[in-house]
Amino acid sequence: SAEPIIGRLAVIGLGLIGGSFAKGMRESGLCREVVGCDRDPATLRQAVPLGVVDFITDDLASAVQGADLIMLAVPVLAMEQVLGQLAQLELGQAVITDAGSTKNVVVDAVRGAFGYLLPQFVPGHPIAGSERSGVEAADALLFRNHKVILTPLAETSEAALTLVRRSWRALGADVEDMPLADHDEVLAATSHLPHLLAFSLVDTLASRSENLEIFRYAAGGFRDFTRIAASDPVMWRDVFLANRDAVLRSLDNFTHDLSRLRAAVEDGDANALLGVFTRARSAREHFS
Ligand code: NAD
Repeated sequence: SAEPIIGRLAVIGLGLIGGSFAKGMRESGLCREVVGCDRDPATLRQAVPLGVVDFITDDLASAVQGADLIMLAVPVLAMEQVLGQLAQLELGQAVITDAGSTKNVVVDAVRGAFGYLLPQFVPGHPIAGSERSGVEAADALLFRNHKVILTPLAETSEAALTLVRRSWRALGADVEDMPLADHDEVLAATSHLPHLLAFSLVDTLASRSENLEIFRYAAGGFRDFTRIAASDPVMWRDVFLANRDAVLRSLDNFTHDLSRLRAAVEDGDANALLGVFTRARSAREHFS
């Protein structure tokens, strides 16, 4: 394992993402100690036995005391409160990063809490989800061969960026930069909309079925498509509240195209159906 370049890593929010980051960093040898902070007592109790962190605390101030790197992995709308508390503390030279699924609200929360954009704050987003959640799902290998998007700003310090890049790379991730202005638009289309559709489809079927009996007849396609509907509801509620406008643009495009597809079904328009399915198949083959 690597030479430690980080003395103390503090991870705030020990769910799937924070827990996986903490565990992977512990195993990488890149930091001397990892402290975990969460507001849920059951999560904290499990974190040490699961090998996720070295120490636990429910107190943010003690967690970040002496930390060289602070990872924020709470739901996106909880970031504002955590950042507000951080702004009251003596943070020294600590580099701060986050794993939030939307980036505009987090960057706004940093500006709101500190009054300016901290040079040592590096906004980040690992594109490595899972429908599993909570600390029990923490997996040191979750980020291996997955992309991590960083959206550094003009203010962001090169040294902070380098430390965050090295940390993700130590977990096997493929780190890419993206302009902040693009991130939430791109993710609305590739991640947020598909999650909305999966939640919606499962809810539509479930609410019209007496006792969920119909799911016994669900085959592979349904399972693949709806797996993500088992994702954490609070995490996803926050994503849709935080990324409202970009999600609406993407959803409007989808609704428009879906209503055309509906018309094709209603009219028995074989060519229209074949056209959409053929184009979609070739696009899907292109990226798989
Ligand atoms: P999770 O529900 O598994 O874990 C969130 C944890 O944060 C919980 O343990 C909860 O108790 C804790 N928490 C909530 N508010 C807190 C607070 N104020 N102080 C301290 N702890 C608090 O969720 P997750 O999937 O790990 O998501 C964490 C972050 O990572 C979110 O911002 C999410 O958008 C982002 N993310 C999630 C995925 C995914 O697929 N799950 C992928 C990429 C990024």
